[in-house]
Amino acid sequence: MSIRPLVIIPDSKLRLVSEPITDITSEIRQLADDMLETMYDAPGVGLAAIQIGVPVRMVTMDVSKSDDERQPMVLLNPEITWASEEKRVYEEGCLSIPEYYEEVERPDRVRFRFMNLQGETVEQDADGLLATCVQHEIDHLNGVLFIDYLSKLKRDRVMTKFKKAAKREAGA
Ligand SMILES: [Zn+2]
Repeated sequence: MSIRPLVIIPDSKLRLVSEPITDITSEIRQLADDMLETMYDAPGVGLAAIQIGVPVRMVTMDVSKSDDERQPMVLLNPEITWASEEKRVYEEGCLSIPEYYEEVERPDRVRFRFMNLQGETVEQDADGLLATCVQHEIDHLNGVLFIDYLSKLKRDRVMTKFKKAAKREAGA
């Protein structure tokens, strides 16, 4: 297992639409291990493969928020199959947009379907943090970021800040 570098905005890779996973190869298992290690190290509650630069439809999550009882989830080709009409506002952050948090409104409850590393199809209901997290991560697979739900003013402000930081780093 190894910790991989995170892709940070404004990197255009984050706008790619990731490819479905057809075979669970040793590379896919390795990627899952690396994503979990990278996510726990960050630390974060969710990570999409594109956030370490790999454009395949894989997500790792752990919303248990406990180091003692980790509950790692690995989702291949996840999709939302149902969403509640009731919405909920939650303050979101993203490992690709470090130290920026903003309130986002999304469906309060969802049902999602995915393939696990054993190749089985699983369908699961989610509410609370898990519902927010799975919607946020599936968005990544489609090149969507949580700042896309904010006003243009707020989005432009955060993009400008990170563009400046990237330029400073390139010049340093
Ligand atoms: Zn994110």
